[in-house]
Amino acid sequence: MSATPETAADATPEAALDAAPGHRFDGRVAVVTGAGRGLGRAHALLLARRGAKVVVNDLGGTKEGEGSDAGPANDVVREIEAAGGVAVADTNNVGREDGCHALVDTAVREFGRVDIVVNNAGISRFATFPEADSENLELTLDVHLRGTWHTTRAAWPHMVKQGYGRVVTTTSTGMFGLRDNLAYATAKGALIGFTRSLALEAAEHGIKVNCVAPNAITRPSTSAAKPNITTTALDEARLQALRTDLVAPMVAYLAHEDCAVNGEILVAGAQRFARWFLGVTSGYHSKGQQTPTVEEITEHWDEITDQSGYYVPASLHDWTATYMAHLGA
Ligand code: NAD
Repeated sequence: MSATPETAADATPEAALDAAPGHRFDGRVAVVTGAGRGLGRAHALLLARRGAKVVVNDLGGTKEGEGSDAGPANDVVREIEAAGGVAVADTNNVGREDGCHALVDTAVREFGRVDIVVNNAGISRFATFPEADSENLELTLDVHLRGTWHTTRAAWPHMVKQGYGRVVTTTSTGMFGLRDNLAYATAKGALIGFTRSLALEAAEHGIKVNCVAPNAITRPSTSAAKPNITTTALDEARLQALRTDLVAPMVAYLAHEDCAVNGEILVAGAQRFARWFLGVTSGYHSKGQQTPTVEEITEHWDEITDQSGYYVPASLHDWTATYMAHLGA
């Protein structure tokens, strides 16, 4: 998928409400956390343009998670309303369990239900080991991991009761290895376990839980701790390709009733969309009667790590069936 006239229009505040047929969200209520800026704003604008009533949550603090400001959430609500959409601002802190419950209460009080939760709010406190201290870890886990956990948990009974729901979590390709933001990468890794496991529980309730790994230029991209990634260093074409509204269509797909996947991780941004999967090599099967030795591991290292016959388990049970196939059913 590439930039369309529709996504380009998202970048302008005066974008008119899109009444075109297609993937609509009429009658749906969406909660988008951290929707006052960056990616969350783009997600909220697109969902609203397609007919969803949106709770625009944002605490409005710094990118490191300090302070608060009602301005960003209110600005996005005004933007949605100016385009003919329906939205309400919510400034609860998703880094607190009571804030997450109050946020879902806002959706139910204002719009009577909650169909979609886009867990997007995030902070970034660059620090590596051992400087990354417990405060860094806890605050990062509070917003990214516990915020997602508690907001989803608050919405869950409503979704189960109505037999329908869509949950989107937000991970990061930083999880592949991000030396200077250790707590962030740790929290984003945990969200993958959360997403995939909750998806198994969700299936029988008509709920789907998927994860997006975005790629866009936003506040954290211009952190002083990452001097090599500044907007001034990027050419105009690259800046355009890294617009937040080029990520939002994937989030809208995962939030739509036609979403065909559950428990998946999708990478989105820079005009590319991709599946990120967790694979396991076929490995080496030690067939001897003796306890395997360290030398046996060394000898068979290439077989253990050979990626040619890898498989992609959908769940723990799925993995067991392949990994322990030699033990029989
Ligand atoms: P951003 O700083 O522009 O937006 C994040 C928003 O979340 C801010 O408006 C902030 O006020 C809000 N927020 C922070 N803590 C909150 C809290 N406790 N309660 C409510 N709102 C809170 O950053 P962004 O790049 O748009 O990030 C959005 C999400 O995407 C984050 O989860 C981030 O980790 C993730 N992400 C972004 C990229 C990227 O390329 N920009 C890459 C990977 C992952």
